[in-house]
Amino acid sequence: MGNAEELARERRARLAAERLLDLKQAELHEANRKLSAHARDLTEEIIEKREETQALRHQTTEALTQLETARGKIMIAERRLWTSIETVQDGFAIFDHSGVMVAANAAYLAPFDGIDAVGPGVGYEALLRIAAEEGVIDTEGASRDDWVEEMLWRWRTPAIPPRTIRFWNGGFAKLVDRRSDDGDTVSLALNITAEIRNQAKLKAARRRAEAANRAKSAFLANMSHEIRTPMNGVVGMAQLLAETGLTEEQSLYVETIRSSGESLLVLINDVLDYSKIEADKLELHPEAFDLEQAVYEVTRLLRPSVGTKKLELLVDYDIFMPACYVGDPGRVRQILTNLVGNAVKFTEEGHVLIRVSSLPDAEGARHRVHISVEDTGIGIGSGQIDHIFGEFNQVDGERNRKYEGTGLGLAITRRLVEMMDGEIWADSVVGQGSSFGFYLTLEVAEEQWAEPPEIPPWIRRILIAGAHFPERDILRRQLVSQRLPAHAFSNAGDLRDARPTLGDVVLLDCGLEDAAADALGNELRDGGFDGPLYLLSGAPTNPDGVFTGILQKPLRRHDVLRALSTSPEPETPDLPAPTPLARTERRRMRILAAEDNRTNRLVFSKLVKSADIELQFAENGLEAVNAYEAQPPDLIFMDISMPEVDGREATRRIRAIERDGRLRRVPIVAMTAHALTGDRDEILAAGLDHYLSKPLKKADLLAHIADACPPDCAPPLPELEEAQAARA
Ligand code: ADP
Repeated sequence: MGNAEELARERRARLAAERLLDLKQAELHEANRKLSAHARDLTEEIIEKREETQALRHQTTEALTQLETARGKIMIAERRLWTSIETVQDGFAIFDHSGVMVAANAAYLAPFDGIDAVGPGVGYEALLRIAAEEGVIDTEGASRDDWVEEMLWRWRTPAIPPRTIRFWNGGFAKLVDRRSDDGDTVSLALNITAEIRNQAKLKAARRRAEAANRAKSAFLANMSHEIRTPMNGVVGMAQLLAETGLTEEQSLYVETIRSSGESLLVLINDVLDYSKIEADKLELHPEAFDLEQAVYEVTRLLRPSVGTKKLELLVDYDIFMPACYVGDPGRVRQILTNLVGNAVKFTEEGHVLIRVSSLPDAEGARHRVHISVEDTGIGIGSGQIDHIFGEFNQVDGERNRKYEGTGLGLAITRRLVEMMDGEIWADSVVGQGSSFGFYLTLEVAEEQWAEPPEIPPWIRRILIAGAHFPERDILRRQLVSQRLPAHAFSNAGDLRDARPTLGDVVLLDCGLEDAAADALGNELRDGGFDGPLYLLSGAPTNPDGVFTGILQKPLRRHDVLRALSTSPEPETPDLPAPTPLARTERRRMRILAAEDNRTNRLVFSKLVKSADIELQFAENGLEAVNAYEAQPPDLIFMDISMPEVDGREATRRIRAIERDGRLRRVPIVAMTAHALTGDRDEILAAGLDHYLSKPLKKADLLAHIADACPPDCAPPLPELEEAQAARA
């Protein structure tokens, strides 16, 4: 190899080495650059971390300070809490979930005074055993083990019930324990010693007061009973005295003695009943009785107190209800009499409606009997309703002042209802009326489930004509519920339009406004109606020939059904030749005497005693007109001066009815104390036929009776019969 070649090779090697050196230098440079960038990043990071650490250190110091403050506050709160808990007279303790005492105040631990084992750390069961065995508590008769067992059982129930315990020294504590969500149990032992002692004192005082009250009521009951006996003498003797020959003035005095005596007796009876109830001396005497009959009896007894008021007494006794129950009939009647009596007393016009219904219990042996007495009277303000059930309480007001009463009726009624497992309430709107309702729990008297009478199949329709909506509607509903086709009409015109015919039964109310019942009855008969025709009447009357019979109001569903079931089936009659009626077949002469004075009525009845007549009294003019309308009598004796509607006005009305209904004219004889000639003419001008001045003479009365006797009546006087016989 030549030198040149050697030189070229060296030069090439040197060049290659230089290039490699450059490359390595470039790489080194790059590495240096990266290294310094990294070092810079690191420095920045270190600075950042240092700042963060600085901040954290600051925060920690702050947190530590706050923690210290909080701990201080907690300690203060805890100390305050415990100071409060310690101050409380009642015991307070906390037990953990396993029943170990965590803390307790001094009051809780006090009963265990001196027993070291009792304090935080003691288990609940151990605590109970110590309490029982060391005699801390009075187990009140139970054995110690039983007491502990019972208390443990209580402690283990999820919602621990409160329990009163008694300590050895007669003190009492009520234990109230509550579990918290974390399983601890907070236990309070409330000191109720003073409360229990007070209660015992109150009980003793109440017992003494009740005994004193019973003694007072017993005294009152005895006294009222004692007063009744002489009072009966006073009233009875006054009655007898009134029947002896007295002047009008004397009669007035005697009547005043009698009526005052009777008012006093009512008051005494109320006081007697009330004091008997108060003294626990009133006993119920249950027996099987007819409730339906009792309701009707009460209405019948109270009918006279309706007097001249335009007031209908109605009964709606649920047709599906049994009539007989086991109860104290006297007391049930007393309740009804009080409520219906009040309703009549406080209602001037409209109606008093007694509704009776019942609900059987599950076995059906006992019924909840609901009775309501609704009236259309003066009503009671809502604020007074509770008040009136109190003793001697009455509604105080202008409108009530004119009504007499003791204010004891409802108090007695309420007590009686409560004695019969019932409840009473009232509802009222002033000026519109009141409704008193009550229920009694009564056993059904088994043997009394009588089947309703069977209605003959020929009865096609029952036509009811009556002026009063509730009354005719109750009757219609009762009949319809027995699957009987009943129709009700409010006036004679509608009844005529219904054209009563074969297969119909007509029930005619005597109070229709557009026709007198007798006249309408005659008209139906004249028109060819042959079927049963019943008069519905509130006053005792004698059925005229035109009527099949009379049904007394308020109508008893059973009476109506029985009348229907026994109604004669009409047939085309083969009229027999009229034969003179024997004396026994002829009806008695009907005489109506209108007289407002009770003594005078008594005198009148004594004077006509020897006459065989049917005597009916009206106590004023209005009653006389009503009685006339119900059934025209054969003769009327009319007192002239009577309250509200006097004798003249009553006569005018009767004459008007006669004209409208084209009825036979009834002779009317005036009776008056004013024997002035002018009066006589005026009286006769009012439509009266004759004139008698008081005092009445027996002979005059009998003469008028004999004169007025119609041919279809039995002669009222034996002498008259003899005379007739002699003439024949
Ligand atoms: P008395 O009727 O003897 O006063 P009660 O205890 O029977 O006593 O009634 C108390 C009062 O309740 C009555 O005085 C009357 O003010 C009121 N009262 C009772 N029933 C009725 C009624 N049906 N309508 C209006 N007020 C009545």
